[in-house]
Amino acid sequence: MEQRKTAFVSDFDGTISDDDFFAYTTKTYFDEQALAPWRAFLAGQKTHFNALKEMFAQIHAPIGDFHALIETIRIDPDLEKTWQVCRKQDVALYICSAGNDYYIRRLIGNLLQKYNVTLVSNKGEYAPETGLVMTAPAEDYPYYDQDVGISKVKLVEKLKSERYFVVFAGDGPPDLAPAEKADIVFAKKFLLDACRLRGIKTQKFESFKDILTYFEGV
Ligand SMILES: [Mg+2]
Repeated sequence: MEQRKTAFVSDFDGTISDDDFFAYTTKTYFDEQALAPWRAFLAGQKTHFNALKEMFAQIHAPIGDFHALIETIRIDPDLEKTWQVCRKQDVALYICSAGNDYYIRRLIGNLLQKYNVTLVSNKGEYAPETGLVMTAPAEDYPYYDQDVGISKVKLVEKLKSERYFVVFAGDGPPDLAPAEKADIVFAKKFLLDACRLRGIKTQKFESFKDILTYFEGV
């Protein structure tokens, strides 16, 4: 019998990292006034993408300071071991993020290359003059989403249509739709509660140690 192909798709913020980049930047750079775009998003007056774009463009710190902040973001210590085990099993690896690739590449760009991980995300570019400029993919991009820039569910659906067995890990609201389509779901925080509410089966997920244990046992 043909062995089934597996893909492992993971969210980044709050899943691979301990907390959202948005939370880190809010603590360091944003006062009440700077948070106005976020309030507009919560009130339904702005898309998630436009709110983040406007907020991040307000960061004008010297580049060294901005990078130093990024380096305080904690990455799960078992991420690399998990990807290592996945590569040995020929599991296709993806990060799918509605954030942007600037801080993701700075934090784990070397691991993305080393383990051949495909990063599906909005683009980010930083200069103190412009702030962190976020760009969504073009509308004809296969995983485009009008609200958050990147559609995680479209990626999961594409993989399913290519007969992949999809393992998904996430924590936040944009992770619910892909979790509904995935074959195995590792969920924490908001996503765990949302999955339980909808009867979506989830695996124990406190850290990547649990995901590592899963792949070691496959
Ligand atoms: Mg997240």
